[in-house]
Amino acid sequence: MKELLGKSVSDIHELLSAKKIKAVEVAKVFLEHAKANDSKTSAFICHTDELALSQAEAIDNKIANGETLLPLAAIPLALKDNLCVQGYPTTCASKFLENFKPEYDATVVKKLFAAGTLCVGKVNMDEFAMGSSNENSAMKPAKNPWDLSCVPGGSSGGSAIACASGYSMISLGSDTGGSIRLPASFCGVVGMKPSYGVVSRFGLIAFASSLDQIGPMARRVEDVALALSQMQGKDPQDSTSIDASKISGYPVLSVDSVQTLKKESPKEILKGRKIGLIADTIGEGADSCVREATLDAVKRLEAEGATVEEVSLEYNKHVLPVYYLISSSEASANLARFDGVKYGARAKDAKDLNSLYSISRQEGFGPEVKRRIMLGTYALSSGYYDAYYKKAQQVRRLLLEEYDKLFFEQKFDALLMPTCPNTAFKLGEKTEDPLKMYLSDICTIPANLAGLPAISVPFGLDKKNLPIGLQLMAPRLCDDKLLRLAFALEKLAQSKSTVSPLLAASV
Ligand code: GLN
Repeated sequence: MKELLGKSVSDIHELLSAKKIKAVEVAKVFLEHAKANDSKTSAFICHTDELALSQAEAIDNKIANGETLLPLAAIPLALKDNLCVQGYPTTCASKFLENFKPEYDATVVKKLFAAGTLCVGKVNMDEFAMGSSNENSAMKPAKNPWDLSCVPGGSSGGSAIACASGYSMISLGSDTGGSIRLPASFCGVVGMKPSYGVVSRFGLIAFASSLDQIGPMARRVEDVALALSQMQGKDPQDSTSIDASKISGYPVLSVDSVQTLKKESPKEILKGRKIGLIADTIGEGADSCVREATLDAVKRLEAEGATVEEVSLEYNKHVLPVYYLISSSEASANLARFDGVKYGARAKDAKDLNSLYSISRQEGFGPEVKRRIMLGTYALSSGYYDAYYKKAQQVRRLLLEEYDKLFFEQKFDALLMPTCPNTAFKLGEKTEDPLKMYLSDICTIPANLAGLPAISVPFGLDKKNLPIGLQLMAPRLCDDKLLRLAFALEKLAQSKSTVSPLLAASV
C-alpha cells in the first residue's frame, strides 16, 4: 500500500473507481507515513487522524451506496495553520493562538472537504505568515526533506514539506509575498498563487489583506490545477472574491478541462507563445545553478516553439521597500484585534486594562511579528503616512502599470524567472539579519503587489542536490493560461526532476 504515497490525484480516482482501494486505506497509509517520519521534518502542528478517518469512511459509504465519486475523493490534504477548521487548533504558529479553536471552517476548507479531501493535519508556518524560512514559527523550526539541515522555505513551510515528503497529496498555503511559491521551490514541489480574488479569503487569518491569497501545492501541476478548480469562486463572505465565470474570457477551470490539458504536448501549448525573461533576476545576485537552470528552460521553451525575449522592469527594484511598507501597515491594522480580550491568550498578572493589552501582546507575539507591527504603525502614523504608506501605494500602481504594458501592449503571454535567486539555505544562516531574509522574496513579491497569478515549478537540482524552482507569471485572471504553460514547463523539466530522498525511501 505504500506505493499510494507517490500517486497522483487521478491515479487515486481510478483506483477508487475500480474498487481496488478504499478511502480508509488511503487515509491510513498517509497518516501512518506522516506519524513515522515527521519527527525528522516537524511539518505538523497538529495531526487530525480522526477527522481524516471519518471523512474517508463517509466516502466509502457513498461509494457503497452507488453515489458518484467526488473530484478529490480520498485525496489527503494538509492545511496551513492559519486556515480555520471548525473545532481544531488554528494557531498561526503563534503562542498567542495556542489554544484557539475556530467556530467555523474557512470557505476553501469547506469547499475542499465537500470535494472529498481527507484532512491529515494542520501544518507549520512562520508566525502569522511573516517569514521566508519557517524559522519564525513559535512552535518549532521545520526542516527540508531534501536536506534536514536546511530550511524548507516559508512561510508555508509545513505545507511544502507535507507534499514533498508524501504526508499529503495536496496542501494549502497562503501567499502574501511568496509564501506558497518560495517553500514550493525549496522543497521541489509545485505551488501556485492564484490571481487576487480568485479564491475566497474568508477564514484565513489575515496578514495583509490586499496581498493575501490562498493557493494549492502538490507534486504535479495537474494536481494543483485540480485543487484550484475546486477552491475558486465568488464567496458572499469575501467581498474581494470574484465570480470568474461572469468575467468574459476567463475559462473556468473544471475537472474536465484539466483532463484535456493533461493530454496536450509542450509543442501544442507553446507554439506561438511569447514569453518574457526578467533578466535582472538572473544577474549577479543569483546562484550560478539557478541562472543555468533558467537559461536551460529558455532553450527548451524555444525548442518547442515559444519565443523568449529579455525584459526589464524599471520599478522592480523598489519592490522590497514597497512590499514591506504596505504589508506591515496592513498587518499592524489586522493584528490590532489580538488584544488578549476578544482574541488571543490573556495575560495573567495585568493590573488594569491597558497593561492587560500590552502584556498580552508582549507575551503573545514573537520578535518578527512585533517588528512588522512597529514598522507598520510607524508608516501609518500621522505625519509619516504620506511619505511612506501613500508613496508605497503610488509606486505599487506604477509597477502594476508596467506589468500591464508588458501583457497588453507588448503582448507577452507570460513572464519567466527563478522563484528565488538561491536554493534552500541552512537553518540559522539568515536569522540574525532580517534584510538578508527579506531578499529571498525579491522575485515573488511583484505578483502580489500587482495581483497577478504566479506558479513555481521544480526544474532540476543544484550541485548540493537541492531543488531549483522556476516561476511563471501571467496576466491577471489568466490562471488557466498560466497552468497550461506550467504543464509544458513541467514536462520539459521531467528528465531533471525527482522526488525528495525522504519520500523516495518510503515508496
Ligand atoms: N516572506 C514574506 C514576508 O515575510 C512573505 C510572507 C508571505 O507571503 N506570507 O512578509
